[in-house]
Amino acid sequence: MTDTLDIKITKTKSSRLEQTDFNNLPFGHIFSDHMFVADFEDGEWKNFQIVPYGDILVGPGISALHYGQSFFEGLKAYKHNDGTVSIFRPDKNAARFNKSAKRLCMPTMPEEVFIQSIAALVDLDRDWIPQKPNHSLYIRPFMFATDKYLGVTPSKTYKYMVLTCPVGPYFSKTLRVKIETHYTRAAEGGMGYAKSSGNYGVSMFPARKATEEGFDQLIWTDAKEHKYIEEMGAANAMFVLDGKLITPLAQDTILDGVTRDTVIALAREWGFPVEERKVSVAEIIEGAKTGKLTDAFGAGTAATIASVGSISDDSAEYTLKIEPKDREFSQRALKAMNDIKYGNAPDTHGWNYLVSGD
Ligand SMILES: *Cc1c(COP(=O)(O)O)cnc(C)c1O
Repeated sequence: MTDTLDIKITKTKSSRLEQTDFNNLPFGHIFSDHMFVADFEDGEWKNFQIVPYGDILVGPGISALHYGQSFFEGLKAYKHNDGTVSIFRPDKNAARFNKSAKRLCMPTMPEEVFIQSIAALVDLDRDWIPQKPNHSLYIRPFMFATDKYLGVTPSKTYKYMVLTCPVGPYFSKTLRVKIETHYTRAAEGGMGYAKSSGNYGVSMFPARKATEEGFDQLIWTDAKEHKYIEEMGAANAMFVLDGKLITPLAQDTILDGVTRDTVIALAREWGFPVEERKVSVAEIIEGAKTGKLTDAFGAGTAATIASVGSISDDSAEYTLKIEPKDREFSQRALKAMNDIKYGNAPDTHGWNYLVSGD
């Protein structure tokens, strides 16, 4: 990195660190002391600041609220046993940030600026990163349109912000999932590959219906025929079928997850066969019936690996024969990823971005 970002830092006068209960960290509820803010005006990014975490003032006419020019990212920082702080693969999030921005006619951001904004914030709030197994600092960068104008055109001004939250282990119960064959999250030509806010709003109604029916999560299928698996809630769907790792190809209806990419990279290194292709509902159900489906999980930053206990279609529920703790592939992948993230294994891929503390 050549230039260092010029950031104006205003520190909080009253840290909330002491009064925070690190033994009780419900996901996304507790924010660290500071946040990053920048503005896009006159065609450029400016006003790079770190300020105390708090409410912001926006006009009621901002187009983010009316037309959904808004998207986010999600990644994590980890504290190693020796105190080292690292962020996992932020370059991947920077690239995806710009993919989302382009799809929504929003300004892109140089990857170094994105990474430096996050690194500076994490460095300042490093005491908020829990130094405990399976704990981390969740990082939420996002951007939204701020023109106070009710015309349906891309905004000329935007705000970029980063929030962070200390988080504990994601609830790791075994999931009962339902294959969704009526509602659609994303269609070809749409914005499924972008981490746009609208993709999440649209998923809440079907997800709530599934919850009311007693399921924990749903599996999205293709918009045309509902015959092919796309994603699992807000995570990528991955399966081990007949000794091969299979996962839907990351095309325009699918969010190209960093966890998914990491699992695939590790599997290839282990010589484990990987197939990125169309995955039919029929083959997964058949595999669950015959026992050839030996692993099924959602892959994402928040949960890392969320194991599936049973899969239901419109007629029946199929329980996987192997308990999550005995599933060789996902247990190995989870351990390998955690070992790298927490500095307990050599980072041979250069996946850890080290946050220097000086
Ligand atoms: C964020 C997200 C994922 C997982 O991506 P990661 O980079 O692994 O966190 C998968 N699917 C959807 C729809 C998502 O929003």
